[in-house]
Amino acid sequence: MNEGVTIVMYHYVRSLSASRYPGIKGLELSRFREQLEFFKSEGARFIGAQELLGALDGGLKLPPRAVLLTFDDGYIDHYTNVFPILRLEGIPAFFSMPGRILAERRVLDVNKIHFVLASLPVGELLPMVMERLDHYRGKEFEIPPNGVLYRKLAAESRFDPPEVIFIKRLLQAELEETLRNRIVDELFRACVPLPEEAFAKELYMSYDQVRLMRQEGMDFGIHGYDHYWMNRLTPQALDRDVALALEVFGGIVDPKRWICCYPYGSCSDDVIRLIRKRGAAAGVTTEADRALPCVHDRFRLPRYDTNDFPPKTARPL
Ligand SMILES: [Zn+2]
Repeated sequence: MNEGVTIVMYHYVRSLSASRYPGIKGLELSRFREQLEFFKSEGARFIGAQELLGALDGGLKLPPRAVLLTFDDGYIDHYTNVFPILRLEGIPAFFSMPGRILAERRVLDVNKIHFVLASLPVGELLPMVMERLDHYRGKEFEIPPNGVLYRKLAAESRFDPPEVIFIKRLLQAELEETLRNRIVDELFRACVPLPEEAFAKELYMSYDQVRLMRQEGMDFGIHGYDHYWMNRLTPQALDRDVALALEVFGGIVDPKRWICCYPYGSCSDDVIRLIRKRGAAAGVTTEADRALPCVHDRFRLPRYDTNDFPPKTARPL
C-alpha cells in the first residue's frame, strides 16, 4: 500500500440547473460522469472500503492508482443519480450519513442551512441572521455582540466567502443548541415553502434504499447520529451520538469494524479514543491529500474534495 489511495469526497450530485435550488453547492451530474471518465483515463483502480481496511491491516496490497469514492450525508442523489452509474460500471463506493435521517423524516440543521444559503444572496441573508441575534440577545440567551461573533467566525475557506463561513459556523456549532435550532428553523421556514417532512423525503435516501445499495455491494460507514461537530461534544454526548448511529445502521455497518466519516472532518485524539472503543477501524477527514498509511494515522485519513479534480481543477490522479 506504499502508493496509498486517493479518497474523493462527494456531497450533492445532481442536475443543478434543472433543480429547484440551482444555487446549492454541489456537483453537476454530467460533471460527475466526466470525472469518472477522467479517473479511468488516468488508470484509476476503484477500491471499496473493505479493501482499504484490508490494506490498513497490512494483509492486502492495494493496486497502483487506487481510488476510493466516498459520498457523505445520505442525499437521494446518491441513490437516484450515483448508484445506477456505479452499478453499471462495477465501481464500489463508500457512503455515510447521519443516523437521524434514517430514523426520522426530519431535515438536519446542516442541510437547512444549505438550502437557506441557496435561496437568498448572502448579502440579504446576513442582515436577517444579525436581526435574529439581536432579537434573542439578553432575553433567554447570552449572545456576544454581533461584531465580536463576526470577527471570531468569519474566515476565508477553500470554497466559501467569509460571510458564508460566518453563517455556517454560527449556526452549526457556535450558538447554544436550542438557540441555533430555533434560528435555523425560522430561516428555513422563511426561505423554503415546503413542509419539512415532505422536504426530507425529497432530500434523503430511505432505509430500504440504503439496504438495497448494501446488498449490491456498496459500503456504509458512520457519520454520527445528529451530524454534530464530534470534537465539540462532551465524551458522554459523543458516546451517545455514536451509539445511536450504530443502532440505526445495525445490519448495514459491522459494529466491530466500521469507518468513521467525521462530520465536518471534526476528529481529535479524544474522538478517536472513544470511537475505537465503539469498534471503529479507521476514520476519514476532510483534509485534502492523498492517503498514505505509512504517513497518516488510520483514524485521520485525508480525502480530496471532488472539486480538487477535473473538470474543476487540473489535478492529475
Ligand atoms: Zn456530513
